[in-house]
Amino acid sequence: MLFSLFRGGVHPDGFKELSANRRISKLPIPGRLYVPLRQHAGTEAIAIVNVGDQVLKGQLIGRAGRGLSAPIHAPTSGEVIAIEPVVAAHPSGYSTKAVIIRTDRRDQVYPQPALVDPFIQDPETLAKKVADYGIVGMGGATFPSAVKLQSAVGYEINTLIINGGECEPYLTADDRLMRERPDTIVTGSRLIQHIIKAKRVAIVIEDNKKYAIAAMRNATEPYRDVDIVVVPTRYPMGSAKQMIQVVTKKEVPAGKLSTELGVLLYNVGTAYATCECLMENKPLVSRIVTVSGGAIKQPQNVEALVGTPLSYLIEHCGGTVEEPARLLMGGPMMGLVMPSADAPLIKGAGGVLALQAHEINQTESSPCIRCGRCVSACPMGLLPLEMANRARSQDFDSASEFGLKDCILCGSCAYVCPSHIPLVHYFQYAKGEISQKNAAQKRTEYTRELSEARRVRQEKEAAAKAAAKAAKSKRRKRSATTTD
Ligand code: SF4
Ligand code: SF4
Repeated sequence: MLFSLFRGGVHPDGFKELSANRRISKLPIPGRLYVPLRQHAGTEAIAIVNVGDQVLKGQLIGRAGRGLSAPIHAPTSGEVIAIEPVVAAHPSGYSTKAVIIRTDRRDQVYPQPALVDPFIQDPETLAKKVADYGIVGMGGATFPSAVKLQSAVGYEINTLIINGGECEPYLTADDRLMRERPDTIVTGSRLIQHIIKAKRVAIVIEDNKKYAIAAMRNATEPYRDVDIVVVPTRYPMGSAKQMIQVVTKKEVPAGKLSTELGVLLYNVGTAYATCECLMENKPLVSRIVTVSGGAIKQPQNVEALVGTPLSYLIEHCGGTVEEPARLLMGGPMMGLVMPSADAPLIKGAGGVLALQAHEINQTESSPCIRCGRCVSACPMGLLPLEMANRARSQDFDSASEFGLKDCILCGSCAYVCPSHIPLVHYFQYAKGEISQKNAAQKRTEYTRELSEARRVRQEKEAAAKAAAKAAKSKRRKRSATTTD
């Protein structure tokens, strides 16, 4: 099959062989789990347990917050010993509120309702269960899955794309998942198809994953409306807009949803988690994660509980050969630099990389030579240098006019820049500043709405009191007149 690919893109070295050929191992339960109440796009979940409570695996410990949010469940059984800020899986080193559980290593499961065949249930019931069980996008974006399912309501979905691209170097978690558990992924994909009433399913895999392609082809054999689509290896193929463009030959216009084109995209890990949720009553409390990089003694993929400290994951993989020059959550192109190995694993983390100095670009940056390579590499057709100049001088409005909102932070521009200008860092910084400003604005609006509602309520109460008082005095006067 011939593909017209997306514009731009790069071919970074894969380093996938470090972990691709070892089977997924199960990480032993750590002594303590640090379960952040925010592991998803949107607002923090609200803790519903107290210090001293005993919890069971899969028990709800944080209900979804206001607006876009997702609930959080206990990854295993044990005692809640604190609910307090811990170091977040974020380069800023800020802290995030977490439920800290001292595990009992018995992994006792919270009782769940009786199972019903999801294929005979209606889409609304299934979408609610996906929301209640805390399923979020496992490809890194961590968008609550139920919200995405709801976004399909009112649209005719022609193609459900299941993203098995995993184009980031080093990462092989999705590859191993497809090789070892293809039936679960296919069932999860068919369940999502059932919920959104998609006509067909396209499971898209890059051509560098031949064993995954074979296993998935075998698993999809019985289903005529589920196809395996093999695409060329090119970064950032796994990015939603680029994959949609390659598969459907349609570009999602800026500011539009893919559902408007009749397409919805989920990661293979999300399809897997959806199957476990709907077929086995399992909330999302663990994931497959690649632990790799030159500094890791035994790179491999492990199935780990969310809330596991990264240091514990690294120890399980034999520890490090030397102090890593950089610790990342995610891949080297789009991953986040971790402030410390104390940070906990979260639902969206596909990789933990400990890199040596020679694996990262530490060359001092030099002035731009106006070569235009960043422009050619940008898959979104942006002008990275212009955006970076504006972000550097804190002119965020102007950076936005140059398309900052459309930047997917793929890092292709920085990868090809001969002057080693850390372009993507400027974009991350600018996006962070803009989102903080927007959040502050929303908080102010919310506070204003609350005080306005309070004022209206107080005025109503005062008017009701005055009316009652007037009625009482009227009654009193009337009764005095009758007595006279
Ligand atoms: S990081 Fe942004 S500007 Fe740079 S190539 Fe990717 S999309 Fe384009
Ligand atoms: S690739 Fe680097 S040197 Fe070339 S134009 Fe872009 S920022 Fe300048």
